[in-house]
Amino acid sequence: MRLSEAIRLGAMMKPQGFEYLLQGGHTCALGAAADACGLLETDLLLHHTLQGEARRRFPILRDFKDRWCPEGCAVSRVGVEGVILHLNDSHRWTRERIADWVETIEGWQREDDGVTDDRRCVVSVAALPE
Ligand SMILES: [Zn+2]
Repeated sequence: MRLSEAIRLGAMMKPQGFEYLLQGGHTCALGAAADACGLLETDLLLHHTLQGEARRRFPILRDFKDRWCPEGCAVSRVGVEGVILHLNDSHRWTRERIADWVETIEGWQREDDGVTDDRRCVVSVAALPE
């Protein structure tokens, strides 16, 4: 499952929240993705970022390039994850709209290397030390 798909699926499971992955039964965009994968009960709740298994599951979250906010803010964000959090918390984009944006990045990545996300995921997991 790609990150954009996980966000959409998780958005159907709980109402949207802000600033936290999970708070009071609400999830942010990344929390929704974790929820869709059954990862909300793991190691990620202390931070407003996904950790461990979630990063292995979604290689796109290991993109640490500076990226510009699609709303045109003057400050760049670190990585796809930074933009997602910013769109969720600062611009209050719906998670469906955030998923649409993530999908555009996923499309570029596929064109970049010609490898499908599923294969990328398998290769990434095998390459990571436990
Ligand atoms: Zn912005």
